[in-house]
Amino acid sequence: MIHRADACTGCRSCQLACSLYHEGECNPSLSRVQLRCQGLECTAFFAPECDECGRCAAYCPYGALEKSG
Ligand code: SF4
Ligand code: SF4
Repeated sequence: MIHRADACTGCRSCQLACSLYHEGECNPSLSRVQLRCQGLECTAFFAPECDECGRCAAYCPYGALEKSG
């Protein structure tokens, strides 16, 4: 997955989508994409379990995520 930090607002919709789809629960801590934010700057980290399903990208309202392949 590719994360565009300049477009990301830190809204965490991606984490809710990932955790709901894979774990059945809206819980950002269970998401396979984690965000580290300092002020308005967020960096995304993808867990090894990320299967590149693209669900997080589909629910990013700002177009900040896309599949890398
Ligand atoms: S691509 Fe799929 S598994 Fe990976 S972080 Fe996004 S929703 Fe989660
Ligand atoms: S849904 Fe998009 S804008 Fe919101 S935190 Fe995730 S990557 Fe950033």
